[in-house]
Amino acid sequence: MSVKQNQWNLFDTEACTRCGECFHKCPEMSLPLEIAKQEINALIDGQDSKHVLYHCTTCFSCNLICPHDCKPYELILQRWNELYWKRGAPPIYRFVCPTMESNIWQMLEVLMPEDEKVEVQKWMNQDLKEEVLLIGNYTHLFSFIIGNSKLLDYFTPVDLLDQWECGAYLYQGGYLDVVKEIGKNCKSTFDSHGVKTVVPFLDAVQYMIDTIHSKEMDVKFNQKIINFNKWILDKIENGDLIFQKKLDFKVTIHDNCYSKADGGLYWNTARDLIKKTGCEIIEMEHIKENALCCGFGAGASWKNKNRIVFDILAGAKRKYEEAEATGADAIVTYCGGCLYLLWAANELFSSNLKVFHSIELVRMALGEKIDINQKMHKKRAWDIITIISYHIFKGLSKDPFRIEDLEFTEEKWKQKKFRFLRFMRWCFRSRVIQFLFRKIFGFLLPRMKTKREWENDGE
Ligand code: SF4
Ligand code: SF4
Repeated sequence: MSVKQNQWNLFDTEACTRCGECFHKCPEMSLPLEIAKQEINALIDGQDSKHVLYHCTTCFSCNLICPHDCKPYELILQRWNELYWKRGAPPIYRFVCPTMESNIWQMLEVLMPEDEKVEVQKWMNQDLKEEVLLIGNYTHLFSFIIGNSKLLDYFTPVDLLDQWECGAYLYQGGYLDVVKEIGKNCKSTFDSHGVKTVVPFLDAVQYMIDTIHSKEMDVKFNQKIINFNKWILDKIENGDLIFQKKLDFKVTIHDNCYSKADGGLYWNTARDLIKKTGCEIIEMEHIKENALCCGFGAGASWKNKNRIVFDILAGAKRKYEEAEATGADAIVTYCGGCLYLLWAANELFSSNLKVFHSIELVRMALGEKIDINQKMHKKRAWDIITIISYHIFKGLSKDPFRIEDLEFTEEKWKQKKFRFLRFMRWCFRSRVIQFLFRKIFGFLLPRMKTKREWENDGE
C-alpha cells in the first residue's frame, strides 16, 4: 500500500495572536518570549524553525497553554509531516515499525523465555470477538505485567502488532499521512470481524480512536471504546473487584504525554486507582499539564540520526533526577510506552527506584503474584538495551526511509536467527560489560538546555 501526502490544516491561524505563550511556557523548552514569538511566526509561515522543530518532545502541553485553543501542537506535527516527506524517517525508527525487518517485536522473540512466548503467541493468534482488550505493541514488550491476570478474563485479549497502537506513536512524530492509513486499516479490521467494543490497554489508543481519527482524520470508528483504568476503578467501586491487600509503597507518578490530551483526560483516573491500592503518592515538581516527557518524545524532533538515542536518554535522565528527588520508593507509569523507556533508563542510570506500571500495583492489591523483585523487568530492560544498541550500530550506515508497508504478512514476520543479537545479549549478561556500557553512555549523553541557559546565551 502506498501512502500519499495530504494537506493538513489542523492549526487555527486566524485565532492565533502570535503571542508566543505556547512555547514560552512550554515545560520542556521554556523559550524566552521573544524567541518563542519568532518560532511561532516561523512555523505559521512555513519557514524552518531554530528550536521547536528540533527540541520539542511532543508532550502536548502547548495545546493546554494556548488561551485561544489554536492547537500549536498540531502545527508542529504538520511541519514535521512536511519534513518527513522531504527527508524520510530516521533509520532507527525501523525498529518500531512492526512490518519491517528486524523490528523490536521480532527481535525480542528470540530473547523471550518460552512460557512468555506461548502467552504472547496466544494473544497474537486470537480470533477477534465482539469485546476485545487490545494488549498493544508496547505491552507486548513487557507482557508479564498483565499476563495470567484475572483481569484478562473479562475480555478477549488480542495483540495486533500491525495495528501500530492505532498510530499513536507515529502521530506524535508527525507522520500524519501514515497514521491516517493505519486508522483506516484498524477500522476495517474491527468492522470486518464484528468487533463492537474495544478496551485499549493504552489510554493513547482511546484518544486516537475517539478524537484524532474521528475529528482530525475523518476515520470514524463504529466501536464503543472503554477506558481500562476507568473500567477497573468502576469495578472496585461496585465491589465486583475487591482489593485483598493494602500496599505500602511511596510512589511518584509519571504523567505521559497523551495524558494531557483533551485537557488531562487521564490524570485523575490513574491517581484514584493508585490511591485505592494503598500507595502514598509523592508528586514530582512537574506533573499533569507541566509533566516532563520520559525522554521518548525527543526522537520526534531529530536532527542528527545518530544522536537520537542519546537525546532520548538525556530526557530520561532528567525525569529520573526529578523522580529520585521525591524520595519515593518507585516511579509509576500508566503508559506501556514510557514503561519500556523508563526501565531501559533505570538500568543505564543504576537507579534505586523501582519502576511499576499502574496495573502491577492493581494486581498486587488484588492479591495476584507479580515479580516484586523485578528480576524479569531488569532482564527485559537489558533485552531492550541490546536491541536498541544493535540498531544504533546498524543505523550508522543506513539512510532515512519512508514507511510504506503497513500490513503484516507471515513472510515479513518469518523468524530470523539474529545470531549477532544473541551474542550481544550474552555479552550484556556480564556485570563488567554492563558497567562499561553505562560509563560510555554517561559520557556521550548531551546536557539538556535549561531556561537560564537560553537566557544566558542572549538568544
Ligand atoms: S498558538 Fe496560542 S499561545 Fe501560541 S502564539 Fe498562537 S495564540 Fe499565542
Ligand atoms: S509539544 Fe510540549 S515540548 Fe513541544 S512545544 Fe508543545 S509544550 Fe513544548
